[in-house]
Amino acid sequence: MANRQNSENEFQRAQQVIPGGVNSPARAFGGVGGTPVFIDRGEKQYLFDIDGNRYLDYVGSWGPHILGHNHPAIVGALEAALPSGTSFGAPTVRESELAELIVDAVPSIEKVRMVNSGTEATMSAIRLARGYTGRDGVVKFAGCYHGHVDSLLVQAGSGALTLGTPSSPGIPEGCTRDTHVLEYNDVESLIQLFSEAGEKIACVILEPVVGNMGVVAPTTEFLKALRPLCTQHGAVLIFDEVMTGFRVAFGGAQERFGITPDLTTLGKIVGGGLPVGAYGGKTEIMNSVSPVGPVYQAGTLSGNPLAMASGVATLRTLKESNPYPQLEEKTTKLVSGLDEIATSLGIPHSVAQVGSMFTFFFNPEPVTSFAVSAKNDTEKFSKYFHGMLDRGVYLPCSQFEANFVGAEHTDEDLEQTLKAAREVLQEISTS
Ligand code: PMP
Repeated sequence: MANRQNSENEFQRAQQVIPGGVNSPARAFGGVGGTPVFIDRGEKQYLFDIDGNRYLDYVGSWGPHILGHNHPAIVGALEAALPSGTSFGAPTVRESELAELIVDAVPSIEKVRMVNSGTEATMSAIRLARGYTGRDGVVKFAGCYHGHVDSLLVQAGSGALTLGTPSSPGIPEGCTRDTHVLEYNDVESLIQLFSEAGEKIACVILEPVVGNMGVVAPTTEFLKALRPLCTQHGAVLIFDEVMTGFRVAFGGAQERFGITPDLTTLGKIVGGGLPVGAYGGKTEIMNSVSPVGPVYQAGTLSGNPLAMASGVATLRTLKESNPYPQLEEKTTKLVSGLDEIATSLGIPHSVAQVGSMFTFFFNPEPVTSFAVSAKNDTEKFSKYFHGMLDRGVYLPCSQFEANFVGAEHTDEDLEQTLKAAREVLQEISTS
């Protein structure tokens, strides 16, 4: 097993001054146990830890690094931008460049506002939908994560139509009183909710491909039902494409599936590894945002010049190189390899893939909703995760996350990953 003593020491140190030693809980290895790996640097498809170990990375900073770490176009753009200054709090040309790239790429976006994270994007989109419609109701789906927005941190109640209760202390019940939680892919409940409370619903928000309960694809029936139901009842349809944007296709899930939402939230890839989020949509709705309209939303560092430079370089590179067909091919190869190995070893499992997002579930049922995902065998996953880590493969440290294949992953990398997986799954099958 690789020596990770420096990470052990640094984790002890970090825990003295940072809650849990981490600045975002998903990094803490909470679900799998053990010590998080402290990263020294990233290069292409690799991460290097502070003990000098090298890992093949399938996390990509939880999505942004579709082009791999330290991509020369992004580094070059940052180096070019840096000498001019880091923040002005005044308009810059790069903001329009990134906005134009987004508007060109994402079918439903006519106007877009930059923010600093995915959470800010979804929070702002919800406020805008409520302000625009003059209604309070929000519909979300169990297992979809939209950042740590008060009104969206909600657990499903017992029945499909129950109103949400906060899933974190510190969120007053009033914040979630108007949030309805339904099961993903459950068209009937959505129809029923609209028929009972349609005139109160401001918006329906969803991950058009879920990454946050492991990868869960939408059924065609579900996706097709959303658009007309929202239109019929005057509700704003919000695609949270923070993860899927520029990932499952250049124009995101809406391009891939041919469904046009009213608003879209973006993050991750749009900033190329710097803190950027964005929300955009129809001009008519976006014109409700201040200073044009009355819905207030602002940000001291929004449209930050370094973040914009990184985003512009990322989107331009993706547009020019169109890595999407190869990404999908590589991911299919990896996922079918994992499926074959697990099948041959008799390990109960299922796999899910959309584009370059995938999850290997320790769950024999195809995962279509949170109710099914909740049955994943997380103990087996922990063994799998640590076995892979010890063999130099860095996976998301939770069964309820998406793995990402990037443009820098080679066929050899995939072979190496499958070889490691065969060894680890073999151990699991005999333990
Ligand atoms: N929406 C989705 C779909 C996400 O996956 C995430 C983060 N994983 C967010 C919103 C929140 O983004 P951030 O962590 O940048 O606030």
